[in-house]
Amino acid sequence: MSIVQGQTGDWEMVIGLEVHAQVTSKAKLFSGAATEFGAAPNTQVSLVDAAFPGMLPVINGVCVEQAVRTGLGLKAEINLVSVFDRKNYFYADLPAGYQISQYKTPIVGKGEILLDLADGSTRKVGITRLHLEQDAGKSMHDQSPNETYVDLNRAGVALMEVVSEPDMRSGEEAGAYLKKLRAIMRYLGTCDGNMEEGSMRCDVNLSMRRVGDTTLGTRCEIKNVNSIRFVQQAIEYESRRQVEVLEGGGAIKQETRLWDTTKGETRSMRSKEDAHDYRYFPDPDLLPLKLDAAWVEGIKATLPELPDDKKARFIGDYGLKPYDAAVLVAEKSSADFFEKVAKDRDGKLAANWVTGELFGALNKLDKTIDTSPVSADALGGLVDLISNQTISGRIAKDVFEAMLETGKPAAQIVEEKGLRQVTDTGAIEKSIDDILAANADKVAEYKSGKDKLFGFFVGQVMKATGGKVNPAMLNELLKKKLL
Ligand code: ADP
Ligand code: MG
Repeated sequence: MSIVQGQTGDWEMVIGLEVHAQVTSKAKLFSGAATEFGAAPNTQVSLVDAAFPGMLPVINGVCVEQAVRTGLGLKAEINLVSVFDRKNYFYADLPAGYQISQYKTPIVGKGEILLDLADGSTRKVGITRLHLEQDAGKSMHDQSPNETYVDLNRAGVALMEVVSEPDMRSGEEAGAYLKKLRAIMRYLGTCDGNMEEGSMRCDVNLSMRRVGDTTLGTRCEIKNVNSIRFVQQAIEYESRRQVEVLEGGGAIKQETRLWDTTKGETRSMRSKEDAHDYRYFPDPDLLPLKLDAAWVEGIKATLPELPDDKKARFIGDYGLKPYDAAVLVAEKSSADFFEKVAKDRDGKLAANWVTGELFGALNKLDKTIDTSPVSADALGGLVDLISNQTISGRIAKDVFEAMLETGKPAAQIVEEKGLRQVTDTGAIEKSIDDILAANADKVAEYKSGKDKLFGFFVGQVMKATGGKVNPAMLNELLKKKLL
């Protein structure tokens, strides 16, 4: 929970999210038109999508299956009977004058999502429902100075609307929710989760209440926020705004607001008073959707290992800390990469290298795990050299840098550069003797109680040997020499 401090006391955020997730499917929800992103305007529009008179919708079974898969991934109730309704409103990018959606009887009911938080803890957030609906077309206001163009490619594309309970208490939790929902859908292959391309869009509902209050305050809804960072920024801004209104003696008007990314503020779009009356009614062109329980069970049997289970397995099998395990399973490709590195090796060491040096380098190079210049096998080779004491962890970092630059295997770099760790007792003792002889004054100071100088001697030996001395052996031998 993140507390917002006001002038008159502490306030708590209450957040519920509505996410529109585009179903991964080659065809639209009720037509055979293609759904690929980035096609030329109005090239993927069937007569159904353009709402020509007399055209009838035919449900796409793939989209239904994807919604069920997602529901199962959210541990949700699957409703074997659901109903498609018409949500009526008039807009240029909605040629039919209504959107086909699900209102009272959605395909998926109550479920849950487990949030992974930065301190390693988890928190459960309730899912209220998931329903299927059509996307609208897109109005383009920037193509001509005095006309608006309409692109219907998106019209009729299948969306899953996932509605959460008002269970979140901070921007961090909202971010964790979106990341987890996206990860689950990506693992399932039901939505690509690409927020920049609009495949996942989020409406943020937020209200404030005094810490300790148990009733909900009046909420505002911030529509169509298209990145996790913007969601968090909008929450920070909007929570402060509401506290100021409430402390100033005002009341929050239930309204729809927009997040202005350039100004960094939310602003009113329409109040609840002018909210639409959608006149929902069951679409007479579509029968209620009836699912076979055995068919649903069949889908359940094909679900992959999902992030929470994978995380638990990584903690159990490899001894990882919950936080590291959560970081690794956030993307399936990272989890797979890690498991390749960790196979038959020290899992913790492998995890440290993947989440530490590798992720750091990918970040700097603006690359992803899929385009990593160092493969899992190559990184595994480096981990082997650390485990079998050929090189120290310190030298390994230099070797890793060289791997990034040259693409050569770790072992080759170690041989070429002569980086093998010195583990020969005699040689180490010789280096220590040289350093102690050259620093007789410091040796005397050390012996008279200046313990800190131990680190100085270690540093000098390391410097003289190019950092190649086995650190544990150096420590032990140096201690003996200084007795
Ligand atoms: P609508 O369809 O008008 O948007 P819903 O009842 O479907 O209304 O709620 C939408 C979202 O608002 C849900 O995610 C819900 O958790 C959230 N919500 C409802 N009441 C509050 C509140 N008082 N504060 C914050 N979020 C809320
Ligand atoms: Mg809403």
